[in-house]
Amino acid sequence: WQPDAWSTADLRALQHEHVVGTWGPTSAIRNIPMLERGEGVYLYDVEGKKYIDWTSQAICTNLGYSVPAAVMESVTEQLHRLPHVYGGLGMVEIRCRLSKLMAEIMPGDINGFLFPTGGAEANEAAVRIARRYTGRHKVINLYRSYHGGTAATLSATGDFRRWFTGSEVSGFVKAFNPTPINFSWGDSPEQATEIALAALEEQIMMEGPGEVAAIMLESIVGSGGTLVAPAGYLQGVRALCDKYNIVYIADEVMVGFGRTGKLWGFQHYEGVVPDIITSAKGLSAAYLPISVVGMSKKIQTFFQDTPLGWGATYQGHPVAMACAYECIKHMIEHDLVGNAARLQPVMIEGTSQLIERHPSCKRGRAIGLFGAIDLCGPDGKFMQSLAGPAHSAAAKFKQALLDEGVFGFVRPPFLHTAPALVISEAELRDGFSRVDRALDVLDESLGF
Ligand code: PLP
Repeated sequence: WQPDAWSTADLRALQHEHVVGTWGPTSAIRNIPMLERGEGVYLYDVEGKKYIDWTSQAICTNLGYSVPAAVMESVTEQLHRLPHVYGGLGMVEIRCRLSKLMAEIMPGDINGFLFPTGGAEANEAAVRIARRYTGRHKVINLYRSYHGGTAATLSATGDFRRWFTGSEVSGFVKAFNPTPINFSWGDSPEQATEIALAALEEQIMMEGPGEVAAIMLESIVGSGGTLVAPAGYLQGVRALCDKYNIVYIADEVMVGFGRTGKLWGFQHYEGVVPDIITSAKGLSAAYLPISVVGMSKKIQTFFQDTPLGWGATYQGHPVAMACAYECIKHMIEHDLVGNAARLQPVMIEGTSQLIERHPSCKRGRAIGLFGAIDLCGPDGKFMQSLAGPAHSAAAKFKQALLDEGVFGFVRPPFLHTAPALVISEAELRDGFSRVDRALDVLDESLGF
């Protein structure tokens, strides 16, 4: 084992020999950059090339790459003191402290907490909780959504990744988003809210109100392209859940912890308090794997003497919890949620300018430090990454971004913008200029 002796070519050879791809074929990751280090919002590859991280990896490294000293110290200290305790056998101080902090930063009476290791695991637990709490089985999700890569959460997911399950887990029912892309719920946001909610209620009636355990929604749809539901929609979902005793699960895995300029995505909808909140990613800035499931007092109480029936070896991992605790403190002390809100006008301006300048950019949206542009070919159709000429145009565009020093994740039809919450205005503007230049390549390769 002599890593120092390995050249970049050696590392590439090892990668080709042993590394397996995930959502895409392994060939798709054959030539992606070999990264060595990071600093602030920048990444450096093994050749020393500098990239701005335009999507905080999978929209998760919210504090960037310069790990705050307090996080480093707290993680190291926990490793020294007690690296692991299985949460079902022993209690540790950090679990009590983190739970208390969560109760303080989550709204309403969200009072009981689990700490799984990732977003999918948190959503799995949330669905289990809702089913056991209500004694019902069905869960309603939206088509344009992603809830995780496990069998159940992929069945809850509405987007194309669900097709990979082969055979879906039963009990997940799909509703259309209030922000459909290929049809309209009405002429105004008010009408869209009203009709989408009426359709949702009709669906609850047809599924059987006594059968529906939960409605689980991304508060603002993330990997489906930053889709912000019209005003009143989440309040309406809350009211339907109250009317039919359905558990409202807010999936805040991507948008939680400040991404959209508010601590929680649902806070863009005044007064809304879900029954269960799941989050991950920004919780620990992805420095260590940890997620959270927060539940209301009444649900927490229900499980006081009834087994919850969920567990995992690494749930409530002390080192990850120590990391999360300090990350949240850092985020609050440095007002990073405020930074995301303050930079929203720059995000909107940058997004609008790209749409004006590039025919391949059909339309876009941004809220806080969370944006997406819908990419489109000359035929007016949205780009699909899976096959055809659009596929090679997408590959050229991805390369052009790397050439311009932009590291990000582009999955046509969406070009995502979600830099770390620590980004400055100058860095953000610089990023938009780089993306602007790379988009010339996309326009040309699409034949505009
Ligand atoms: N829910 C949402 C909204 C997500 O965006 C994601 C991941 O992108 C997940 C759940 C799954 O999280 P993880 O990849 O940590 O399992």
